[in-house]
Amino acid sequence: MYTRKQTKSIKVGNLLIGGNAPISVQSMTNTDTKNIPDTVSQIKRMEKEGCELVRVAVPDLESCYSLPLIKKEINIPLVADVHYDYKLALKSIEFGVDGLRINPGNIRNYEKIKLIINSAKKKNLPIRFGINSGSLDNDILKKYKKITPQALMESADNMVKILEEVNYHNIIFSIKSTNVIDTIEANYIFASKYDYPLHLGITEAGPPFQGIIKSSVGIGSLLFQGIGDTIRVSLTCDPIEEIKVGYEILKALHLRQRGTNLISCPTCGRCKVDLNKIIKKVERQICNIDQPLTIAVMGCMVNGPGEAREADIGIAYHEKTGVLFKKGKILGKFSEKVIVKKLIEEIKNMSDKI
Ligand code: SF4
Repeated sequence: MYTRKQTKSIKVGNLLIGGNAPISVQSMTNTDTKNIPDTVSQIKRMEKEGCELVRVAVPDLESCYSLPLIKKEINIPLVADVHYDYKLALKSIEFGVDGLRINPGNIRNYEKIKLIINSAKKKNLPIRFGINSGSLDNDILKKYKKITPQALMESADNMVKILEEVNYHNIIFSIKSTNVIDTIEANYIFASKYDYPLHLGITEAGPPFQGIIKSSVGIGSLLFQGIGDTIRVSLTCDPIEEIKVGYEILKALHLRQRGTNLISCPTCGRCKVDLNKIIKKVERQICNIDQPLTIAVMGCMVNGPGEAREADIGIAYHEKTGVLFKKGKILGKFSEKVIVKKLIEEIKNMSDKI
């Protein structure tokens, strides 16, 4: 049975992460942060897709200057992603970001990390500390010889110790590896020791096909055990896809309801219509519907009527005709040519009323 692990509630701008807050979906821009129009335009597309927090890369001082200009154009919390140079983190705080993401493994000097913490404390700003397989502390790597869940956890333990010494608790952790099993194990250990919120993800998961599978297995396994407060699916593609996949993972686990849930069969020799083409058409036409409707499009009468009846709305094809169901009742039998149009009309009517 699903029981969510109780974590502290952390406020990032207008978004609560942890505690009883819904598991949020976040992403990161892949534009040059100095290019304000492109970055704002990408964030606006992300917002439309349901992104609830956005991170931007801050690799230099000029990017810091863009931060307030980007922030005033967008509606979701803006987090600065800073590596190596602690001064960029201090500048980002000064320029009004809603949160920071730093990776202690590549800032390395704890006195500099403490300077960032002190500055964040003054503004009551949260920081996500990212423990990442790609930038683990050298001493830890020497000790363990390779990346292991224990190596990742030792780095996280060291960081928690420093944060607790300076009495800073406004924190979110992420422990990510390209290895799905290491990520699951390390996050599992972290969640059993600490109650800081966890940001889940499989780092550098790859191009969409592989990345979606790795992320679904890694993030999904942890979420199913009640672990995780916010997720980012990391894919080599348009970040819009990351958000879509994030919601699909949450929907599959019944943790969030956003957008339609499409059920369709793989087809077999019994199917007499081009279901592949039909489903693509349906997908295109419902992509802007945010309401949580379950829609079934099934290839024949074997499983078709059962699934279509259970869904909010659905078609069960039979030879070259189809039976349209709505809320468990038959609306009629229609020819192959008109049934998809009827389905879309009904879906639009239903979504207007929700
Ligand atoms: S619903 Fe019918 S067409 Fe689809 S996979 Fe099952 S048996 Fe085949």
